[in-house]
Amino acid sequence: MIDFRSDTVTQPCQQMRLMMSNAPVGDDVYGDDPSVNELEQWAATRHGFEASLFVSSGTQANLLAILSHCERGDEYLCGQNAHNYRYEAGGAAVLGSVQPQPIENEPDGSLCFNKLEKAIKPDDSHFARTRLLSLENTIGGKVLSLQYLAQARTFANKHQLALHLDGARVYNAAVALNVDIKDISQHFDSMTICLSKGLGAPVGSLLLGNHEFIKKARRLRKMLGGGMRQAGILAVAGYYALTHNVSRLAEDHDNAQYLAYQLNSLKGFSTESYQVHTNIVFADIDERVDIQRISEKLKAQNIVITPGYQGMRFVTHKDISRDDIDMLLAALRTELP
Ligand SMILES: *Cc1c(COP(=O)(O)O)cnc(C)c1O
Repeated sequence: MIDFRSDTVTQPCQQMRLMMSNAPVGDDVYGDDPSVNELEQWAATRHGFEASLFVSSGTQANLLAILSHCERGDEYLCGQNAHNYRYEAGGAAVLGSVQPQPIENEPDGSLCFNKLEKAIKPDDSHFARTRLLSLENTIGGKVLSLQYLAQARTFANKHQLALHLDGARVYNAAVALNVDIKDISQHFDSMTICLSKGLGAPVGSLLLGNHEFIKKARRLRKMLGGGMRQAGILAVAGYYALTHNVSRLAEDHDNAQYLAYQLNSLKGFSTESYQVHTNIVFADIDERVDIQRISEKLKAQNIVITPGYQGMRFVTHKDISRDDIDMLLAALRTELP
């Protein structure tokens, strides 16, 4: 199957599976899992934080971050398109009584500091307490510049806000900018990383922050039912992903460029309104193209796309080769009017 729906579909490779089958494990709720402990310690150091927590998903990592930075009646500033506003079932509001204050994302994915400043509530009993600014990088496949991140840090300091990064695909950003991951992470009080997307682990995310923050997040993780026992089997996969699968993300980015360029030459497809920075390609589709029918035709040839998701989105990843892209393009060509 050639699957363009998301980089979450990546399969663990043989070497990763071998590591998993041999992982030393213990009960992580007792703090006894050596593989989880090693991953958490290594990840904290590698990303320039005091501590880290291995969690079940990116959604859980974001939820724990917001609930650890904020109390009931607090609010967090985020983008209208932020995953932790739009795509996480309102978790922070439902489970933490933390109110989101979304701001329209600029075309480059950033949040305008003037608009953010206006959204910060005065210290007055009418209002929620604005406590946190949450950014996302990459956002819709776009990379936020290091200069913008530095400005965000200054803004957060000025307004005494904590600064969180939803870094589900932060390694795609680092590879695209050709910088060390710390050049990005240094600006944030907390950060998440999805191990189960382009990095190719089967399950898991990391939450990074200082000791006190991670201690609070660990308690909340237990409360939410996210305390896992012999989780080392998954943690070694995450460690493998972070130590073997980072630099190859450049290949996914090159493939995305190629895909966008070629799609644009198909009748009824246009990728011109979108920049491709990393592994996500968006396309506008002419209304004469019946993408629903085409996607069913492709499915019969074991090529999977999501028709009409956010316009039209294609994601490249380690299980998609240049040949696979050519197969998609050839299949699309035969189906177009
Ligand atoms: C995928 C994603 C998440 C959530 O990760 P899950 O592991 O699917 O819960 C959070 N933020 C961003 C930006 C993502 O792309």
